[in-house]
Amino acid sequence: MGGLLEARPGAASLSGVLTCPICGGCGFGPGPNGRTAPNGMLPRCTGCASLERHRMFRVMFDRLGPAAFADMRAIQFSPDPTIDPDWFGAFELSVYGEGKSLDIQAIDRPDGAYDFVACSHVLEHVADDHAALNELLRILKDDGLLWLVVPDPFREARTRDWGFAKPKKHGHYRVYGADFAERLMRYLPDQPVLTYMGEDPVTGERDGGFLLPKSPARRCWVEARLGGDVAHYAGPA
Ligand SMILES: [Zn+2]
Repeated sequence: MGGLLEARPGAASLSGVLTCPICGGCGFGPGPNGRTAPNGMLPRCTGCASLERHRMFRVMFDRLGPAAFADMRAIQFSPDPTIDPDWFGAFELSVYGEGKSLDIQAIDRPDGAYDFVACSHVLEHVADDHAALNELLRILKDDGLLWLVVPDPFREARTRDWGFAKPKKHGHYRVYGADFAERLMRYLPDQPVLTYMGEDPVTGERDGGFLLPKSPARRCWVEARLGGDVAHYAGPA
């Protein structure tokens, strides 16, 4: 009978085949522009199109417990397979340049409208990232949680900011460096910022992102679930 059991997504199956923690698929192909993972493995799931970071953060959300999201109102800026809209009581998606997309620098929503805000690989496309961060926190309820990801924030020491959306750099205004922490402390002096470091169960690649819990209680909630994989990064200790 054991051979008929389905492998748990994200784990090696009984036959030793790696499966995607998002869709359970076991087929993987080249990533954007034909790239492989840094360790040479194929990064893109052929089932759900997820990449390393999507699966790494899906594991994080599985640990936070999607059941806890059932009563939450959520908004996500830019589509991303990491999050399943069905986890949430209410879910809104804003896609830049599509339909009634929101300006993240002046979000047309009231204060405290959401329990959870997702902003992954968006901030580097925004001219005024200070305004955007203030807005992302403003629309959160008092005990809300912001999930924030920017590309490779730990690779370079210093942020390089061009002051315009550079076409040869995917339209990014800047590439953040390790001094992202100083920027966050300057922009959001009263907001604790936690890092989460995790591993993609398919390629084994490690990467990190940020969690900004708006209240001490929400911070405890995060730390209780993610344990040693979260650490203080910026703001009040
Ligand atoms: Zn998948």
